[in-house]
Order: sequence, then structure tokens, then C-alpha cells
Amino acid sequence: SSPFPRVTVLGLGVLGAQIALQTAAHGVDVTAYDVDDAALATGRGRLDTFAAEAAGEMPDAEAYRGAPERIRLVSDLAEAVREADLVIEAVPERLELKRDVWARVGAAAPEATVFATNSSSLLPSAIADATGRPDRFLALHFANHVWVNNTAEVMGTPQTDPAVADRVQAFAEAIGMIAIRLHKEQPGYVLNSLLIPFLGAAAELLVKGVADPATIDLTWRKATGAPAGPFQIYDVVGLRTAYAVASADPRSAVWAAHLKEHYLDQGKLGVESGEGFYRY
Ligand code: NAD
Repeated sequence: SSPFPRVTVLGLGVLGAQIALQTAAHGVDVTAYDVDDAALATGRGRLDTFAAEAAGEMPDAEAYRGAPERIRLVSDLAEAVREADLVIEAVPERLELKRDVWARVGAAAPEATVFATNSSSLLPSAIADATGRPDRFLALHFANHVWVNNTAEVMGTPQTDPAVADRVQAFAEAIGMIAIRLHKEQPGYVLNSLLIPFLGAAAELLVKGVADPATIDLTWRKATGAPAGPFQIYDVVGLRTAYAVASADPRSAVWAAHLKEHYLDQGKLGVESGEGFYRY
């Protein structure tokens, strides 16, 4: 069972709603916070959509179907964290916003409450001091489509108490995740440290004209036994996200331009739009 009986999720966006749902579906008491009633209403819609989706994909359909109505929705931050044993933050990926939210949570939460950020690209050590309790703060990083892609990367800072990381790992396992424990801070955690260079190498083969996407994917699948090649992965991740990553790095300017001209500008966004490198 969960070492944290009461969990508060901050931000009911794409990831926050999935994390809240997964936690509630495993019998944990969940409170979800977002900025105002309108954001909470949108978040409630996401919970219902994800619950229906998960119910169709998971064996314990009833647990997911019943979860949204058990999640307490609160737009007052202090009230949201007042009784929490664990706070998981999934607010927008902006350092100053996260630091501000954590400073307010640090002032309002009980002394013993453990804090975790779901940030994908910010290091927890860039946020830790804002919480006022760096020994009880770490990253707990979920992947989109939480119940199916059920890895949870547990990554502390040099200041995180290892016993706190142990408890967060036990929590992740209690809510059906495969916990991936990192021994030190790493930008991109384990997954993106592998995936981003891999996808970048595939893009380079394509823009240099070495081989086409289907051939590159076939090579990877057949030679390694992997279920999908890099361009199949691009389509699942979504080409808008791929473009955002590519355009942030001047070294991938040619690739960014290629994605824009041949895909984004033609409405080909990957699986979500029905076509990317492949048709769906
Ligand atoms: P999102 O934009 O879908 O959701 C953000 C939510 O935060 C919204 O509901 C918004 O109303 C709310 N919000 C805005 N300001 C807030 C504030 N001051 N306090 C509380 N809530 C506030 O974003 P997302 O994709 O769910 O990403 C959230 C976090 O999760 C980011 O740190 C991101 O890096 C991380 N993450 C995202 C993914 C992904 O695939 N989308 C995967 C792993 C981790």
C-alpha cells in the first residue's frame, strides 16, 4: 500500500490529470489543485476522458472509471496541501513559475510532507531551495499515457535524503508504476538521455539523404528486435514536439526546417493527426 495516504497533485493538465487518476485508481486519497474554477473544470474533463481511456486499456476498468469522482478539486493552494503527505507538482514547464509555486507550497504544507516535481527538462536542484525543504524534495517523472507507459523516474538532488527517495519509490510502485531509480541528477533522466540522441541520429540520416524513414526504421527493428523504429517513435511523440525540440538547438536547424516544410505546414503531425512519416 502507498506510504503516503494523502496525495495532492498541482496542475490538472495533461500529466497532472493522468497522475491524479492513476493515484486515485490505486485507492489513494487524492486532492488536485489548479489555478481557478475554470481550470479545474477543464481538468475535470481531462480526468473523465482519461478514465474512460484507461478503463478500455487496463484490466481493472472499474477502478479507473470510479476514480475521477473520488478526486477532490481545490483552487486554494494552501487548502490543497494542508493535509498532504506527498505533493506532486505538474504545472507548466517554466522555472520561475515552478519556484513560485513551490515557495508557496513550502510555506503552507506540514513539515513532514514530501515534495516531488514531474518536470521533464528542469533539474530538481534548480528548484530545491525554493521549497524550503531540499532534503524532502526530488523529481518523480512520469511518461505521457501514465497507466500504459508506466515508468516513473525517481531522481533526487545531492541534498535529497535517500530515505525520502526510497519512500517515493515505494509510492510509485504502489500505484502500479515501474520505478526507475537514478543515483544522480541527469538532464533528461534515463529515458530522454537515450531517446533524444537516438532520434537525432535518425533525423541526421534522413536530412543527409542517406536513407528514407521506412528503411531506417526497418534496419532498427530487424537488427535489434525493437518493436518500433525512430520515425515510428517520432509519429507517436508528435511532430509538433519534435519540431519544438529541434528548433531549440541551432545544430538541428536543417531538421527543424525539414519538419516544418514537409510535415507541420501540411497538417501532418504524427499519429494524432492521422499522418506523419506514416499513415494511420
Ligand atoms: P499542461 O499545460 O497540460 O498542464 C499544466 C497545468 O498547470 C494546467 O492545467 C494549468 O492550468 C496549470 N497551471 C498553470 N499555472 C499554474 C499554477 N501557478 N499553479 C498550478 N497549476 C497551474 O502541461 P503538462 O504537459 O501536463 O506538463 C506539466 C508538467 O509535466 C511539466 O513540468 C512537464 O515538463 C511535465 N511532463 C509533461 C509530459 C508530457 O508528455 N506532456 C511528460 C512528462 C512530464
